[in-house]
Parts: sequence; C-alpha cells; structure tokens
Amino acid sequence: MSIVIAGAGIGGLTAALSLHAVGRNDVLVLEAVREIRDVGVGINLPPHAVRELSELGLGDALDSIGVRTKELAYYDPAGQLIWAEPRGLDAGYRWPQYSVHRGRLQRLLVDAVRERLGAAAIQVGQRVTAVKEAADGVVVEVVDAATGIISSHAAEAVVVADGIRSGLRDSLIGAVTPLASNGWVMYRGTAAAGPFLTGESMVIIGDESQRIVVYPIGPGLLNWLLVRPKSEDRGTGELGNWNVPIAPEVAASFVRNYRFDWLDVHALIASSTEAYEYPMADIDPLPQWVFGGCVLLGDSAHAMYPFGSNGASQAILDARVLAYQVATASTIDEALKTYEALRRPVATEVQLANRRQAGDVMARVSAMARRGAHGDAAAELQEIERRYKQLAGFDVGALNERRSWSVLKAS
Ligand SMILES: Cc1cc2nc3c(=O)[nH]c(=O)nc-3n(C[C@H](O)[C@H](O)[C@H](O)COP(=O)(O)OP(=O)(O)OC[C@H]3O[C@@H](n4cnc5c(N)ncnc54)[C@H](O)[C@@H]3O)c2cc1C
Repeated sequence: MSIVIAGAGIGGLTAALSLHAVGRNDVLVLEAVREIRDVGVGINLPPHAVRELSELGLGDALDSIGVRTKELAYYDPAGQLIWAEPRGLDAGYRWPQYSVHRGRLQRLLVDAVRERLGAAAIQVGQRVTAVKEAADGVVVEVVDAATGIISSHAAEAVVVADGIRSGLRDSLIGAVTPLASNGWVMYRGTAAAGPFLTGESMVIIGDESQRIVVYPIGPGLLNWLLVRPKSEDRGTGELGNWNVPIAPEVAASFVRNYRFDWLDVHALIASSTEAYEYPMADIDPLPQWVFGGCVLLGDSAHAMYPFGSNGASQAILDARVLAYQVATASTIDEALKTYEALRRPVATEVQLANRRQAGDVMARVSAMARRGAHGDAAAELQEIERRYKQLAGFDVGALNERRSWSVLKAS
C-alpha cells in the first residue's frame, strides 16, 4: 500500500524524494493548488539542509539555482559592522550554505519527484479534506479543485505536510491550533541589483526597532526582508498567508536612512519588482505529531518565526529522518513514533529559540552597539549563533561528523 503525502511544499516533496531513496516507489503527493508556480521569495539553506539535499543527489542542481553564502554579517543602523562570520564551506562545513529562491527550489524538487517517481506521483488540484483510520491503514479523502468531485485513497500512512495553516492538523488534534504572532510584520521582496560586499554576503542591519536582511539569490538579484512592529494601518492581514502583495514603496519608506556606501537599502527596496507583507506567525510547540497512521511534517508540525533560516531546513530534516525510520523500523507505527521522538524535541527547541531571537536578543545586542561596545555586542552575537547552530543541528563539528540519514551509508 502506498504512502500519501498531503502538500507539495518543500517538506512534502523532500519526503517523497527521501522515501524513494529508501526504496519506496509507491508514494503519492497530493497538492491543493491547481498549478505549482514559483511563489515565495528568497530562503536560506544552511549546511545541515544542504547535506540532506546533497545526499538525495540534488547537490549539483542546487548549486545551479542557488548562491553559495560566504558570510553572515551584522551591522548597526548606521551601517557600522558589529560582527561577521564565515558561512558554508568557508566556515569548515563539508557542505555549502545556499541562498535560493523558494519557488525555484520547489520547482527543482517537483522535477526530481516526477523524474524519479513518475509524472503521476504529484497530483495537483487535489485538496486533502480528511484522513480516517481504517482496519489496515488510513483512508484519505480528496476534493478535486476543478470538478469538486470527491475521491479517496487507501494508504499505509499519511504524511501531513500542508503548511502553517494546516487544516489536517486541526482535524487530527480535534481543535484549531491558533497561529501566534509577536506583533511584528515581515516585508519581503526581490530587486535587480549588482553585488555588494563579497558578492555572496548575507547581512542583517538594524536594531530592536527594525531589522533588514539582504542577500543575493541569483546573478544580479538581491533578496531583502524587513521586520518591524505592526502599525495601525499595516500588518493587520491574516496570519499565515504568504501571498499578500504590497507596493515596494511602503517598505522603502521605513528605510529612508539606510543608505550606506556599501549598500543603498532604500534604493534597493524602492526598485523591487515584487514585495509582500507577512505578519509574523508561528504555532506553540505541539505535544504530539503522530495520530494513528498520520504524521505531521514541516510547518504543519512546527511552524516557526522565520529567523535563523530554519523553516525549510527543519522540514527537510523531518523528511529524511522519517524516510530512514520507515526503511529501518519493523512496523510503520514504530517508524512514525521514532520519527516523532527524534524530531519533535529538536524542532520545539528551534521554534522557541526563534521566538527569543525575535525579542530580547536584538534589544540586548543593540543596546551594547549604541553605547559603542561593539566588541561586547559581537561576543554576544557569536555566542547566540553558536548555541543556535547546536540546537538546530548545524554545529560545524557535529554536522561534519554525524552519520548520514541515507539508509545505505547508515549500516
Ligand atoms: C506560497 C508560499 C510562499 C512562501 N514564501 C516563503 C518565503 O518567501 N520565505 C520563507 O521563509 N518561507 C516561505 N514560505 C514558507 C516555507 O516554504 C515553509 O516555511 C518551509 O519551506 C516548510 O515547508 P512546508 O512544506 O512544511 O510547507 P509549505 O511550503 O507551506 O507547503 C505546504 C503545501 O501544502 C499545500 N496544501 C495546503 N493545504 C493542503 C491540503 N489540504 N491538501 C493538499 N495540499 C495542501 C500548499 O498549497 C503548499 O504547497 C512560503 C510558503 C508558501 C506556501
């Protein structure tokens, strides 16, 4: 019997590829939207996620669509460097860190699934509406977006990868999981622009009142992200909707003073071809990810604030660990339970750390920078980054040394 995956996002698609890599050809991905388009803007994949995609044979493809991130640098609002550290290969990892367009990454994964599992392995316009336990597995109910026709699939297990606003999660838990917000809004977009600093730098500029992140995601293309508190007229939109467009001038108006000789942030944002508004949202850590033959994965399990470049990365890790357990456990029940035991504590820690990053961390560091103690601020940032890498799974030594989640290499 097959394994059904609800949702063809980064998590669901990586789960399909990971299951295929451990010998499961009977995987069906059901996606609600009728057409998978290149939506989203830039995301970052640190080396722990890149390792997993590389071990799925996608290293070269990733290299062809992403930019290898060379350094991460923090600047104060005056454009003064607080602290910088090398990233990816330059930091001693065996795998690079990539900055990449989310839509292009999703496309890469879609193509790989279709090539390896067959064109019919992803069915679009198929919204999973319910999952029911059956005597020998589960039954998945689906509604066709074009015709409204309802159909069902029997499966051994269902991977629930339907994102932050997971309706399936709510039906399994039996209550709506509220999306939490810290009252901040994220504006994001891309703009055509030449290289800055090393040409492969990711910079974080600002203080506790607002923060701007900029990095390249392709030749002549910069991704930017601005985080600031919600105001009366902005950021009041629905939580968890990634697709709310705004005029780039709105975001540009917040950064009029951010013009440095190494990067004109205001001009960059004002010249954007696309921009979006996203009230920051996450969910409280869940006490349970497995419900009979149904298992949560990615944002449905652990939606987190987009700090620390780990939303997609933790979904990718979920997928690999789940497939490893499916291949090596003696029953599917045992596989799902072991997956939860391994992944839920880690993802919970990352969710909570991202909440902390959104709050007091920046206030503390900015206070130091304001009184001219850039050295203290640098030490604080270095320590925060060190701890974060450890808990999220990309401490350089631990990642380079740890065993693979590929079944063949694990024996
Ligand atoms: C349109 C979009 C744009 C995004 N843009 C960004 C961005 O710019 N920056 C960033 O950091 N993160 C972005 N994200 C979030 C990021 O992709 C995730 O945080 C991360 O990759 C984890 O992915 P996921 O697979 O768990 O969820 P997602 O990537 O959200 O994928 C979930 C998938 O499930 C599908 N789905 C939902 N309900 C059902 C259902 N009932 N049945 C079948 N399919 C269903 C959705 O259409 C979607 O394709 C975006 C997500 C989406 C959906």
